[in-house]
Amino acid sequence: MARFPPGFLDDLKAQADIVQVVQEVVALRRAGTSHKGLCPFHTEKTPSFTVNGDRGFFHCFGCGTGGDVIKFVQLHESLTFPDAVQALAQRFGVQVPVSDDPTRDAAAETERETLLAVHERARDYFREQLAAPAGTEARAHLDARAVRPATAEQLGLGFAPGQREGLKRHLLDAGYSLDILLKSGLVVEREGARTVDRFRNRLTIPICRDGGSVVAFGGRALGMGQQPKYLNSPETPLYAKSRTLYGLHLTKKAIHRLGYAILVEGYFDLAQVVQGGIEPVVATCGTALTASQARLLRRFASKVIVSFDPDAAGQAAAVRSGELLVAEGLEVNVALLPPGEDPDVCVRRRGREAFADTLKQSRPYLESPRPDATSRVTSRGGRSSRRCWPWPPASPTRRPVTSSPTGSRNELA
Ligand SMILES: [Zn+2]
Repeated sequence: MARFPPGFLDDLKAQADIVQVVQEVVALRRAGTSHKGLCPFHTEKTPSFTVNGDRGFFHCFGCGTGGDVIKFVQLHESLTFPDAVQALAQRFGVQVPVSDDPTRDAAAETERETLLAVHERARDYFREQLAAPAGTEARAHLDARAVRPATAEQLGLGFAPGQREGLKRHLLDAGYSLDILLKSGLVVEREGARTVDRFRNRLTIPICRDGGSVVAFGGRALGMGQQPKYLNSPETPLYAKSRTLYGLHLTKKAIHRLGYAILVEGYFDLAQVVQGGIEPVVATCGTALTASQARLLRRFASKVIVSFDPDAAGQAAAVRSGELLVAEGLEVNVALLPPGEDPDVCVRRRGREAFADTLKQSRPYLESPRPDATSRVTSRGGRSSRRCWPWPPASPTRRPVTSSPTGSRNELA
């Protein structure tokens, strides 16, 4: 029997929204952080069947049936496990890597675990470097961007020193093989078979799965004229750029609780908005939003406010993102910032209230003027945006992060 690599099953479960799948056969009603309905597996008159979209499982308190989205499809459609996996993968557009070699699968799983451990170690190393004397300039950079130490800590920001083999030596000393370091993308091969750190003299930003494990890094250049300004980890067995949303692991609870997400473009947009106490935010990190990312977001929110740069590139990206999000059945509003301001600059320059105002004034995507008048928008869930929703949809935000003593000189205006 075909066995699926565990990493693939994680990906599939992240993509296949259990609420969406169950909702097609069971009428669900939102109840707190989960959904409730009449159990399809036993006869009942009062709902004891719950679905938790956030955690990706269902459970019936009446008959005790429960499990993940694959289990639901298996039971409901009387399919074998592999058939249920195939059906879901096909439906959610996830490629199925079929393997009949258990030894190879086990090896791949061990490798993934090692890669995860390598990323944890790397994050710790970068954080230590940021705190060390070597990190003075990087700390000054954060200061200049008004990122408080508490926020840097919350986001796990770090510093990759300028030397060519700092991280590499650290990880080799910790017992990891050069082979695994190369696979992690944190060490790269240069001409002459020389291997060096990918991130050098950069501020490091850990990119996490929505579960919280570090799977990649973004690196912001610190040197004058250092190019590129942003350097990211490559795709690895752990990291698929198109399926990851920056910051979701920190903000998914707030997004779920409030029912909406604010979509921004960059790491520092997210940092500044979160620091301002506006929690439900995720970032695309400069790449175009993908259908997979839209589906990922849909697991946590039914509404999205897109807040991209007001320049032409940003607005074109907002249009594409809006189209994708609407196609995934999300209600979409577009917030427009004044020229020259991205969310980062807006919060720094004019404070969180000013940014919150742009969110309040955001307009339904389908009613917004768009450069691309020919865009074809189809809504799968029939939940397309028709009108403005009351802002804020639920109890708004917590108080701004209180600054630590060392960060007080960077109080927002
Ligand atoms: Zn039941």
